[in-house]
Amino acid sequence: MCHALLQDPSFFRLLLRIDEDLAGETRAGGCSCGGVLHRADYPRKPRGCLAAVRAQFESRFSFCCNRCRRRCTSRSVRFLGQRVYLGLAVVLVSARHAGQTPAAARLSGMLQVPVRTLGRWRQWWRDRFPLTPLWQWACARFLPPVDSGQIPGGLIERFTGEPAQRLRRLLIFLTPLTVRRMIALPEGR
Ligand SMILES: [Zn+2]
Repeated sequence: MCHALLQDPSFFRLLLRIDEDLAGETRAGGCSCGGVLHRADYPRKPRGCLAAVRAQFESRFSFCCNRCRRRCTSRSVRFLGQRVYLGLAVVLVSARHAGQTPAAARLSGMLQVPVRTLGRWRQWWRDRFPLTPLWQWACARFLPPVDSGQIPGGLIERFTGEPAQRLRRLLIFLTPLTVRRMIALPEGR
């Protein structure tokens, strides 16, 4: 179901528009020193990206303050931190048991994710993701609790809607992880 989105240009364009909105918010917020933020995007060579949209995925929105020169990179639904593969690919490939079903094997083959890379991603979801401030804040909000061994697959299932909506919601949920500085999360338990 969800993995068809890896070949859907309209889904990639939707992610781009979300990133443009997030970048707009970052810019409008300005720098904490009171300076003005100027575009200073990072070049990227994304893997797992459709050729049809590749040109729009070769940079990550980022800004530089005109006064203190501090970098301010906006949250992203396209790039999950520094990983070369797009967040979409990292989530979907990690969520499947590559090699255990024909569909999963095709997906890994199509994206040419090396086995070692996939192993690192799975390890990150299993060992590191549960320790992130985002998950520490969010895990109690999912009832019944999400089995940490089933992340991210079990997490996709907790978001509502069509596959595209669920995945979009998950990628938005994960955006605090895509910037070094932790975004202030809403108050609550
Ligand atoms: Zn500044």
